[in-house]
Amino acid sequence: MANVPKKKGFFRAYLDFNVLYKILIGLAVGAVAGIILASCGVTALPKWISMFGTIFTRLLKMIIIPIIVGSLVVGASSVSPANVGKVGIRVIIIYLITSAIGVCIGLAMGAIFKPQADLAAVTELAAEAEGKLADTNVWQVIAEIVPTSVLTALVNENVLQVIFFALLFGICLSYMKVSDNERIRTISMTTYNIFDCLSEIMMKIVSGIMQYAPIGVAVLIAEVFAKNGAKVAGALLIVTIACFLGYAIHIVLVYGGLLKIYRIKIRTFFKEARTPFITAFVTRSSNGTLPTTFQAAENLGVHKEVYAFSLPLGATINMDGTAIYQGVCATFLVLSCIGRPFTGGEIAMIILLATLASIGTAGVPGAGAIMLAMVMQGINMPIEPGTVIAGAYAMILGIDAILDMGRTALNVTGDLTCTCCIAKKLGYVSEDSVLKNSK
Ligand code: ASP
Repeated sequence: MANVPKKKGFFRAYLDFNVLYKILIGLAVGAVAGIILASCGVTALPKWISMFGTIFTRLLKMIIIPIIVGSLVVGASSVSPANVGKVGIRVIIIYLITSAIGVCIGLAMGAIFKPQADLAAVTELAAEAEGKLADTNVWQVIAEIVPTSVLTALVNENVLQVIFFALLFGICLSYMKVSDNERIRTISMTTYNIFDCLSEIMMKIVSGIMQYAPIGVAVLIAEVFAKNGAKVAGALLIVTIACFLGYAIHIVLVYGGLLKIYRIKIRTFFKEARTPFITAFVTRSSNGTLPTTFQAAENLGVHKEVYAFSLPLGATINMDGTAIYQGVCATFLVLSCIGRPFTGGEIAMIILLATLASIGTAGVPGAGAIMLAMVMQGINMPIEPGTVIAGAYAMILGIDAILDMGRTALNVTGDLTCTCCIAKKLGYVSEDSVLKNSK
């Protein structure tokens, strides 16, 4: 009998359909439904429909802590102490500085464009958010990064404390993995493998949540539009413009500046960097882009011992595009929910939190949006179901895929730029490297 291809079921077809398009469709369907409801004078969805949105926000909250722990422990423990010599320290410092600059550019874009959906009208909830935000004191927050109890930090979901401990844990593990004592080496490899496995499981859960995202986004957006009408759509366009302009400014000023300082011809660099740039734009994953980033570093003549260490590390901790996005979106969320810009102390707080968040962001699609929830939690504005901030956050999630394309392309370009600059500076490039010969 001829082999008749099986017809795809609806579920299979849904899973196979590109997540990016699904989320955009979810956004459009939710917005149209919300506008129709608003025009009929209906301002709230039936409880059983809202439930689907609530489930989505709960899923996102659920995954924050496990994903931070998995990604940071594995990231920090993958760095071999032997490599954290002069190259490693410099690479890490330059990664951190460029990410912090990224947050500042994001905040500046936020201050210039003032992206705001007029949700403050909705507002005993907004008043409550304002009260919580006012409690934030940056010095106290810095001191409290050190937990007094790891278990309490986990149970209370104190993200900064969890990041702190996960990094310590990972760094110690990286030393133990290369210990002279065979017993220590064996048990630490087992521990590493367990965390590596946990981290992979978290990634799988995240991709599962992303399959559900179109439904969650549609419902949350419908709620926002039903309450506020169509006027909120313009705000999303402004968020998108602010993010992409921030990405462009970062490329020109920061990467262009670094390449100039280290005397690398911009054209020579981008001739190789464009393949990882485009791959990252399309795949929205720094990790997934690594093979092409490796190839670009190789073509540019960087020594393998440097890029084999710095690029995977960068794909885990160096997320300049994500940092810019955090700056713009945190501004959008606070302006929309409270209706006022950040104070000086809050800005310092966001720079600290968003830099840490970009370190904790896994190099997979959509991870930055989960970290945005963490930043908001850090400034005492958690994304709780049923709050204004959950509605505003859902609006961001609706366009997250678009923002993610640009920020991932930037993340990867940043890894390659920093790697080439440090490699050239310390002489880790081959004799015939184009970097060596470019001025
Ligand atoms: N998708 C980004 C990356 O892989 C992370 C993010 O969502 O910000 O670099």
